[in-house]
Amino acid sequence: MSGDAGIRVATWNLKQAVAPQANPGECWSWLAEHVDPDLVVLTEAKIPAGGVPTGWTAIWDPAWQGPRRAWGTVVAARGLELAPVQEVPGGEHTRPLAFTWPGVTFAADVLRDGNRWATVVGHYSVTKDFDGKSCGHGGFSTSQFLDDLEPLLGTDRADRLIVAGDFNLLPFDVTDLLSDVGLIDLIDLTRDERPPLPNCRLCDLGPECGHLWTHRNTGGRNPSAQQIDFIFASEGMVNEVGAVYGGSQSYPDVWDVSDHAPVVAEFD
Ligand SMILES: [Zn+2]
Repeated sequence: MSGDAGIRVATWNLKQAVAPQANPGECWSWLAEHVDPDLVVLTEAKIPAGGVPTGWTAIWDPAWQGPRRAWGTVVAARGLELAPVQEVPGGEHTRPLAFTWPGVTFAADVLRDGNRWATVVGHYSVTKDFDGKSCGHGGFSTSQFLDDLEPLLGTDRADRLIVAGDFNLLPFDVTDLLSDVGLIDLIDLTRDERPPLPNCRLCDLGPECGHLWTHRNTGGRNPSAQQIDFIFASEGMVNEVGAVYGGSQSYPDVWDVSDHAPVVAEFD
């Protein structure tokens, strides 16, 4: 990538937290070969044993490298620079940008040729309630995430903001919630470009569906197709959005590597 070429943004859950299907190095290789992103948010991710592969720059919250948890969210790029964002302007001082569940959410400025192209927030909604009990969905942590994001939403960075990751929630629980803070669900934005996803879980959109199958739910007798991974962008960036694709529709062999499929959005 060089000059004013487009920027391909992706998110993918590598399934490294529990019972990985492939080792981290294999996941990163698959990503480079099949998705070839310029900027990517990797959730439930690990850095390969040999370190960040050549050609990539990658950053993450060191909190996830602790003894209890050796996985987390990684923001990685090729041909772009990344600068962590841990505080934002607020009145006369700065305000910390801190996330309730460290390690699974990470913010960074994305620099192209030294100028800020956008700010990206990589996010994974943990499936716990406010007391830390497992609840099987990302409802509580997504709501907390939006509260945590508030200092950033009041700044210039909100004009060019990308939020991507695994929310552990279905679209009808997420799209409107983030729309309320000015973030547009890019899969929802482009769903009339795609055929409906057969058996899309709890989806009442019928022929208007157009969701991507990003998570292989293997529970039960009839595993359902479901989309719980998303890329959102500020309203001001929407007119730069080109192709949006992913899921098992774009990557039919991805289930050999992870139980999630990537989501991709290309920007002009
Ligand atoms: Zn659907």
